[in-house]
Amino acid sequence: MVAPDLGVGWDGIWGHFMRVRNILPPAQTLFWWRFLHYNIMTGAQVHHMNPAVSDECHICNSGRETVGHLFWYCNKVRQFWGQVYQLLQLLAPGFQVPVPELSIVVNPFLSFPKSLSPIFVTVHGFAMWSVWKLYLGVIFEGKPFHLLALEELFLSFVSSHICTLFLSACKGKKVKGFVKVWGESPLIRVRDSCMRSKSKQTTYLSPYVRGQFQMLITWAPANGFG
Ligand SMILES: [Zn+2]
Repeated sequence: MVAPDLGVGWDGIWGHFMRVRNILPPAQTLFWWRFLHYNIMTGAQVHHMNPAVSDECHICNSGRETVGHLFWYCNKVRQFWGQVYQLLQLLAPGFQVPVPELSIVVNPFLSFPKSLSPIFVTVHGFAMWSVWKLYLGVIFEGKPFHLLALEELFLSFVSSHICTLFLSACKGKKVKGFVKVWGESPLIRVRDSCMRSKSKQTTYLSPYVRGQFQMLITWAPANGFG
């Protein structure tokens, strides 16, 4: 069954979704897929099977914990999406990023140009994944749900994934393509050697974010900055 409370236009989404698996790791791709199929165990689902269990949202304690609530309508999560879209704007400075809405969050493929797929798929995929991870911490470990913790988790996922994409671009000799997509952002600077020479000295990627996000990472491979 497709998500009843996500308010999504489904036209063409499955075709576009093929891009996701080329960009995200399998776990996050599968999660997005399950999300689109409403196949995620939230309080409302559990309550449906066992009415003795409350369907109240574990994060805000007000509202029914449906998939749509957990990933969008919940007050604490909604604030997070505003910040996610700020980051998106910084990563894609040449494109006017839309105001976040649930329908765009779930199906961003129609609202962003294809050329920006690596950016918006990474950002949306890991934003949803971060909400889910933190939610599991609340459920199974009794951890509090803090916006700050959510942001930090999200940023660490995004930054390490950007590094992964960069490394795989180096291996596949596609650094120019990587720079074309990510290099527009003032947050990301790439200095690399894999494009120019066989020297293994310099492979250095430093994505960072201004303002609230601060610096994400300074990453250096085992062979140093050169
Ligand atoms: Zn809530």
